[in-house]
Amino acid sequence: PYFGMSGDEILEKRKQFLGPSVFYYYQKPLNIVEGKMQYLYDEHGKRYLDCFGGIVTVSCGHCHPDIVNAVVEQTKLLQHTTTIYLYQAIVEFAEALASKMPGNLKVVYFVNSGTEANELAMLMARLYSGNLNMIALRNAYHGGSAGTIGLTGLQTWKYPIPQGEIHHVMNPDPYRGTFASDAVAYAKEVKEHINYGTSGKVAGFIAETFQGVGGAVELAPGYLKLVYDTVRKAGGVCIADEVQSGFGRTGSHYWGFQTQDVIPDIVTMAKGIGNGLPLGAVVTTPEIASVLSQKIQFNTFGGNPVCSVGGLAVLRVLDKEKRQAHCADVGSHLVNRLKELQQKHEIIGDVRGRGLMLGVELVTDRKEKTPAKAETAVLFEKLKDLNILVGKGGLHGNVFRIKPPMCFTRDDADFLVDAMDYAMSGL
Ligand code: PMP
Repeated sequence: PYFGMSGDEILEKRKQFLGPSVFYYYQKPLNIVEGKMQYLYDEHGKRYLDCFGGIVTVSCGHCHPDIVNAVVEQTKLLQHTTTIYLYQAIVEFAEALASKMPGNLKVVYFVNSGTEANELAMLMARLYSGNLNMIALRNAYHGGSAGTIGLTGLQTWKYPIPQGEIHHVMNPDPYRGTFASDAVAYAKEVKEHINYGTSGKVAGFIAETFQGVGGAVELAPGYLKLVYDTVRKAGGVCIADEVQSGFGRTGSHYWGFQTQDVIPDIVTMAKGIGNGLPLGAVVTTPEIASVLSQKIQFNTFGGNPVCSVGGLAVLRVLDKEKRQAHCADVGSHLVNRLKELQQKHEIIGDVRGRGLMLGVELVTDRKEKTPAKAETAVLFEKLKDLNILVGKGGLHGNVFRIKPPMCFTRDDADFLVDAMDYAMSGL
């Protein structure tokens, strides 16, 4: 039994004591009191199938015992010290993480969030290249700090402050983009943008291979290879934001960028790396990493013993439980079932993604691709009533984001699709 505050009481206190920009899902927001693998429980003991994993954060599963144990044992021994002293956990974790990276991506900086990771990546890109201009994609989300707000390409999140020397190029979105899946046309536009919109020299380019907040958009195939080449010729470095798409979630590959057959110069990550712990990392080459040694780069909590031990446990669990292969298997089953559902319901305009990084975009008119904003909101509530939590995304809020904890099963996938079918049939 749960003896804490009711959802109504919490909401009242949130309104009183938390900033007004803190938003919530659902007309009557859920009070979640417990989590176990792919399930969440509310104050009344109602169980939900979690298809969003705390915004793609819970990789191994809620309260996975191996991670809980690692964190508890370390907490009893030594909770915190900083990198000004030596301790084993941080180097073990860094070595394990580096072993997951291709090429010469061998040097790790630990931070506490995705925003911090992207701030640091942008700083390194600028220092290393000696240039200021960054290129980012429209429809991207890279963070909410003063610097990363500039990188983010969605007006919903952009406060009107100076946005830095940042240029947003066309989004190579196969469904909504101007050039559909034509990577060559999008890449040409990047080249022209650099030629016309900058000094001809850039600091770097950043992209998520699978846009998360933007609504699970997988970039047109072949795009990153062409653009990386253009950006490097213009003196810039290439950054892959793997905050959502890393750690095997896409099923076919461990990192999202590998689906486009490229090796970035800097990779940023957060969320799933900690299974719920506040943890982020930037991995780059020794050469690029060295630019920060001209001053002191310091982060009090970055790579603290508890998070390092937890992060290492995450990597081990994902390997031990073969989660990448599992995501491929369950994901392909789920995509197939969603595509069948698309045949049945006119409202489904697009089903996309890979592994357990999927999006279902709803439209009122398939030809015009008119966002079914109101209908999405109704279905979203209905799914919750049917014990299913999904995410919502895209500029128009008309995309269901399906990115559950990676322990999600085929049965869970069937339950989700059947519930969507039922909810859509009642529209
Ligand atoms: N990059 C991506 C791709 C993200 O999805 C997010 C968070 N939604 C961030 C960066 C920022 O991460 P954080 O909220 O941990 O700062």
